[in-house]
Amino acid sequence: MNHIKSINPFTGELLKKFESLNKTEIENKLNASEKAFDQWKESSFSERSNLMSKAADQLRSEKDKYAKIISQEMGKVIKEAKAEVEKCAWVCDYYAEKAESFLADEPISLPDGAKAKVSHEPIGTVLAVMPWNFPFWQVFRFAAPTLMAGNTGLLKHASNVPQCSLAIEEVFTKAGFPAGTFQSLLIDSKVTTELISDSRIKAVTLTGSEKAGASVASEAAKHIKKSVLELGGSDPFIVLKDANIDEAAKTAVKARMINFGQSCIAAKRFIIEEPVFQKFTDLFCKHLNVLKEGNPLEDDTDYACMARADLAEELGQQVQESIDMGAKVLMGGDTPKDGSAAYSPTVLTDIPKNSPAYKDELFGPVATLFSVKNEDEAIALANDSEFGLGSSLWTEDLKKGEYLSSKIESGAVFINSMVASNPHLPFGGIKKSGFGRELSRYGILEFVNSKTVYLG
Ligand code: NAP
Repeated sequence: MNHIKSINPFTGELLKKFESLNKTEIENKLNASEKAFDQWKESSFSERSNLMSKAADQLRSEKDKYAKIISQEMGKVIKEAKAEVEKCAWVCDYYAEKAESFLADEPISLPDGAKAKVSHEPIGTVLAVMPWNFPFWQVFRFAAPTLMAGNTGLLKHASNVPQCSLAIEEVFTKAGFPAGTFQSLLIDSKVTTELISDSRIKAVTLTGSEKAGASVASEAAKHIKKSVLELGGSDPFIVLKDANIDEAAKTAVKARMINFGQSCIAAKRFIIEEPVFQKFTDLFCKHLNVLKEGNPLEDDTDYACMARADLAEELGQQVQESIDMGAKVLMGGDTPKDGSAAYSPTVLTDIPKNSPAYKDELFGPVATLFSVKNEDEAIALANDSEFGLGSSLWTEDLKKGEYLSSKIESGAVFINSMVASNPHLPFGGIKKSGFGRELSRYGILEFVNSKTVYLG
């Protein structure tokens, strides 16, 4: 029997152990989802909206409980875990209010006088394969639009956050959603492949690594099913010489250190014009130095540990290899201790091309700083990545910023701000950061049948 373990990465303590679902249990959940869909697709927007608002209320009323589960299970500091739960309530409220207008029939008048319309209909059960880094937010930004569109959802969460997975199911149950509308599946990722081939699953969305994305999307393609992929990023944070350097450096630290660096849209590569490079670097290190390390459950802790010891080890190897190839360490750079999820915030510069710090995603608190001669070099370096998720550009000349945004290969450009997800804004990447969009109207349209009805 396979077990799914909930381990506190800060203490190493085994919190709980769950048995993976067996074949019969998975079968029952698939049937329940299909059965629930038959009813749910007929529900009115006001019924759905009422329940989604209740899910938001449930999140807010037990925010502390859910935040503690997140913190204990993957090491996120409690203030960020509480903010994550709040943000989930926000996305529930957002779609509770907007889904009906987003999915309203769209009339089309044809040149010959005939009429047609597009109606957006639900498609059935959507499978979500989700990561541990924002264990509530990633799921809610899928679930809120998907359920509001009249679909049902099945969640295969990352194996290190089973308690989060069950807590999310509890939110929807306590809110009063009909049985089977949203279910959590405690299963191994190998079983996911079999699930995708099941005719009761109509589409799949994955947030996670390239490797998992390629596997899930190819399986979906084999069975002619739609998939959305939200994968990794190595987001550039470009600072031009006319930028507000104090503000840029302060935000840069926040953008790199959020969730202890374990965010797809964390700023990872800092690309600075030469005349302001030293000033930016000094300020960046100064702001990074004052962050407080501590227990994730304490309110004043800024960072604690990574989500698993193996992730700290992997990051340590990427950094060491880059140092061996010639990268210079301005801060940190220590090798993590065996079996520990602790990691020292690290700043690297003089990063050689082809080193892991140049070309790979560093999914942890490691900043890479690059000095460039001019804007053109900045854009070329920003685009010299396999990824294209988000990007941040700093300049006091907004016209220039807007112009340069069209030159950056990414799914989003934030000018004079860090990249952040927001229910009102479409979210997703290009290149190896994936395809499809979440959030906003774009997100809810991913898993519907936009049906043309010709009214002859
Ligand atoms: P991961 O190892 O790819 O896992 C993500 C999910 O995929 C987990 O549920 C995992 O299950 C499952 N999985 C892994 N291999 C699979 C396979 N071969 N077939 C089917 N499912 C599979 O990623 P992670 O370490 O949790 O998350 C970090 C990565 O996610 C980073 O690259 C980060 O940038 C990316 N991310 C992207 C976004 C975005 O919106 N673009 C947001 C957050 C994170 P198990 O845990 O059971 O293996």
